[in-house]
Amino acid sequence: MSNNFLDTKIEFLKGVGPKRAEMLRKELGVTTFGQLLLYYPFRYIDKSKVYTIADINSEEAHIQLKGKITELQTLGERKGKRLVANLRDETGEIELIWFKGVKWLASSIIIGKEYIVYGKPSKYRNKYNIAHPDLDEVDQSLIANQVTLEAVYPTTEILTRMGLNAKGIHKIQKNLVAQLGNKIQETLPISILEQLKLIDKERAVINVHSPENEHLLQKSRYRLKFEELFYLQMYLLRQKVIKTETIKGAVFNRVGNYFNHFFNENLPFELTGAQKRVLKEIRDDIGYGNHMNRLLQGDVGSGKTIVALMSILIAIDNGFQACLMAPTEILANQHYEGITELLKGMNLNVQLLTGSVKVAKRREIHEELENGKLNILIGTHALIEDKVKFQNLGFVVIDEQHRFGVQQRSKLWRKGSPDPKTGKAVPPHVLVMTATPIPRTLAMTFYGDLDVSVIDELPPGRKEIKTIHRFDSSRLKVFGFIEEEVKKGRQVYIVYPLIKESEKMDYKDLMDGYESIIRRFPRPQYQISIVHGQMKAKDKDFEMQRFVKGETQIMVATTVIEVGVNVSNASVMVVESAERFGLSQLHQLRGRVGRGGEQSYCVLMTGNKLSADGRLRMETMVKTNDGFEISEVDLKLRGPGDIQGTQQSGLLNLNIADLVRDGQILQYARDIAVEILKDDPNLEQDKNHRLVSTLRLLFGGKVNWSRIS
Ligand code: ADP
Ligand code: MG
Repeated sequence: MSNNFLDTKIEFLKGVGPKRAEMLRKELGVTTFGQLLLYYPFRYIDKSKVYTIADINSEEAHIQLKGKITELQTLGERKGKRLVANLRDETGEIELIWFKGVKWLASSIIIGKEYIVYGKPSKYRNKYNIAHPDLDEVDQSLIANQVTLEAVYPTTEILTRMGLNAKGIHKIQKNLVAQLGNKIQETLPISILEQLKLIDKERAVINVHSPENEHLLQKSRYRLKFEELFYLQMYLLRQKVIKTETIKGAVFNRVGNYFNHFFNENLPFELTGAQKRVLKEIRDDIGYGNHMNRLLQGDVGSGKTIVALMSILIAIDNGFQACLMAPTEILANQHYEGITELLKGMNLNVQLLTGSVKVAKRREIHEELENGKLNILIGTHALIEDKVKFQNLGFVVIDEQHRFGVQQRSKLWRKGSPDPKTGKAVPPHVLVMTATPIPRTLAMTFYGDLDVSVIDELPPGRKEIKTIHRFDSSRLKVFGFIEEEVKKGRQVYIVYPLIKESEKMDYKDLMDGYESIIRRFPRPQYQISIVHGQMKAKDKDFEMQRFVKGETQIMVATTVIEVGVNVSNASVMVVESAERFGLSQLHQLRGRVGRGGEQSYCVLMTGNKLSADGRLRMETMVKTNDGFEISEVDLKLRGPGDIQGTQQSGLLNLNIADLVRDGQILQYARDIAVEILKDDPNLEQDKNHRLVSTLRLLFGGKVNWSRIS
């Protein structure tokens, strides 16, 4: 057994050579045998399952046909240019169409030759056709060897030009796999292999590139996916162990008068089960000297604030100060008012610090922070200014996480006070709250080194928001509905998209919409607010406040209202051009209503023509109010790379596993990693030796191994 084999330069592989090697490096980052083996197929053609053209009866699935091309035509000009081929088998004919690579395909397809065609049929004018199918010449050698599953590799235009199209890559992989046999070491501990009945590494690698049969292929893919996710989780969890060992937090082991008084006298309702559970999770963190860094996910209206407040009270019971930071002035104000009200009669000093607090007041706040008279400071970014110094900051709450960058968060960290013994600053415990749910699988990966709590239960008696989808053509009816609601004394949001690329058009749409709304709802009977991105912050605030105070009945806005304002009298959310919003954004917008006791509505307006995607988004919104369910659909539609806040993460560069589809495997992988680290946090035991060497190989310099070997 030798790893030299895997380190062999790719140019020495049969069928590669220096030129192709250079391109493989540039295009795919592949320079060695080992790296090429990690370049996995993205699907397989089952050569044994061939449909006949007459059998095609749905648009559902990808299928494979075998037939002769009888006609080939290039049609249209420029953007409309396309290649249309006619495929015939014994049972009928079907059109194949390509809009891309027309020239190259036109010159390479041979009329009269037999091809295997792979693609997804769609129906147009009552006839099926296939757009952008894959075309392969019928490979006699494969038929002779009775191999039925053939790997298909992703490729690039440049590689294709050098003869490394999907087929070409398949060929060099075959040359490489042919040399395997006692060349790839096992990377998982025997105990895991046995526990999960996984097949061994080399066999899996061979079968994933050249499957012997369907069963072995599935086992191989499972094994490789598991391994990939397992080591990622090992890495993340190990980082967490290191953090827990090196960063200590203040110990809040007392639940005292403030907490108890609040709980017994002030708490206006019974906590939901989910709220109790999260509160316990937080107490378990802060009670024993760990440093807490916790993400609290909970749908809009799930009652995150009260959980944050009760945690703050524990901090105060232990002699510390706390602060709560919100992304906008309006939100900070609302928190300030809400929390002051909740703490009535408790003799706690709560203050608000935002950009518009006057100098004298500001000075007073600074002073009281430093001499410890101030217990809870609520505010905006103003909190992180250097001038703001706490006597003893123990607990930080950040609302609506994605509005703050990591840097801002770390500034708050440093506001902790020094440990009397060591003189080192002890960071305050941090609770980050977000109403943008992240699917579990993603949370496990992106926040693998953070703790995540979830409030997955709404307070009782909350009415579901009724969501309806209407086409633009029924706008008059929607206006009629708005009128009824306003007559009942309710308030209404009408939201327009604002997307950077088409800012001008969007602005025009907004203004046109505003005009027609004013015409339909004239002053002085109706008062209308408008808020959009081109207004000055001060004017925006002024308009928002008018709406918050109920002076205006309708708020026309671009998505600037997305985050957290609470107008409990607002009962209707109309979203214009709803098809242009992503699911999580739509869900956030909908969360602006339904905050009072009244039945609330969300009306999604779209054009008559909707893409399949758009239709699914509307259907999902109409079907469910559950943010987690919505985030799962969102993930399936957009893929993990587009989920908020995850874009830059290198953790997404998985070779074979798929965070969308492999959630179950990920869960196993994480559970097993947790077990191992519980038993051997620093991976010092002999049986875990293989884990350490593999982790080192995979994550190299990124891992802090000082504690290990
Ligand atoms: P969010 O999670 O969106 O920040 P809030 O904390 O603002 O939600 O809570 C939404 C509303 O629900 C508030 O008016 C709050 O007082 C109320 N609420 C919170 N928890 C409960 C509960 N257990 N029972 C009844 N009402 C609750
Ligand atoms: Mg909130």
